[in-house]
Amino acid sequence: KLHNQVEEAKGNIRVFCRCRPLSKAEASAGYSTVADFDAAKDGELGFLSSGLTKKTFKFDRVYTPKDDQVDVFADASPMATSVLDGYNVCIFAYGQTGTGKTFTMEGTEENRGVNYRTLEELFRIAKERTETFTYNISVSVLEVYNEQIRDLLATSPSSKKLEIKQASEGSHHIPGIVEAKVENIKEVWTVLQAGSSARAVGSNNVNEHSSRSHCMLCITVKAKNLMNGECTKSKLWLVDLAGSERLAKTDVQGDRLKEAQNINRSLSALGDVISALATKNSHIPYRNSKLTHLLQDSLGGDSKTLMFVQISPSENDLNETLSSLNFATRVR
Ligand code: ADP
Ligand code: MG
Repeated sequence: KLHNQVEEAKGNIRVFCRCRPLSKAEASAGYSTVADFDAAKDGELGFLSSGLTKKTFKFDRVYTPKDDQVDVFADASPMATSVLDGYNVCIFAYGQTGTGKTFTMEGTEENRGVNYRTLEELFRIAKERTETFTYNISVSVLEVYNEQIRDLLATSPSSKKLEIKQASEGSHHIPGIVEAKVENIKEVWTVLQAGSSARAVGSNNVNEHSSRSHCMLCITVKAKNLMNGECTKSKLWLVDLAGSERLAKTDVQGDRLKEAQNINRSLSALGDVISALATKNSHIPYRNSKLTHLLQDSLGGDSKTLMFVQISPSENDLNETLSSLNFATRVR
């Protein structure tokens, strides 16, 4: 009974913390690891903060640098079942640039991440259910940069600004955005690749650009129950957020300042929404950023949210790491 109450109080938000390995550059510069994984199995992350005091943070899961994509997906995979069961789901990665957000979500060709694995799992389960359900799956890929939505699957640049509209039954959508219908995981890979290459267009430094914009996949699943004819529609958001680091003091003007303010504003808005949900506030401030407005259907209500807080183990990144861990603690 007590256990159930605890589960219930936690609501539908899970927070997983993942620490990347110390990089070669960090090791050769003599930086040491300040993270302590002794109690990682219990979801605890120790941190040697200033001096010798150890701070402890508690999460639903803690992944050490030794845990791989398979270990991570093993805990995230129930989300795929939830989507097919009709729930809206949002999985996102938060953290400083260089901590592995893209590695966790997108992964690499040899080490595929949560995005690909979740879709693979969707198709696997859908196949098991062919006698009772038919599923229609489509994918949109978009980017939010400076509070503007860009459709990464559009074949020609649209002259019209993409805006978020609310349908009469309450759900949110973006009129005019490409929704690519996918029949199997191979087609998904093609769509994801197309999205990635579109992201590079128009930016002279792809990595820099992608660390300053939110990259968002929206998977729409329409399900028809063949027994009773009932139809449901659910949405899965997979989000690689812009880097959470603070702006360097040398960069406090022009375009960089505007970018930084927009990132700051949208990440704070996300924190505000999730902590309002966690404390069961009656007003949830979804409208304060494009990011939270887009995610509205998949944050709160009976939807399920999974947040990856990505961190660096290096003493060199301690301040940013503590700031990410504090963000994550606030939403839990
Ligand atoms: P971000 O998207 O947060 O800026 P990246 O995903 O680009 O960070 O990761 C930065 C670098 O660290 C990349 O070279 C990536 O391959 C590597 N990396 C991140 N996480 C891991 C991990 N868990 N295991 C191995 N390499 C990792
Ligand atoms: Mg990235």
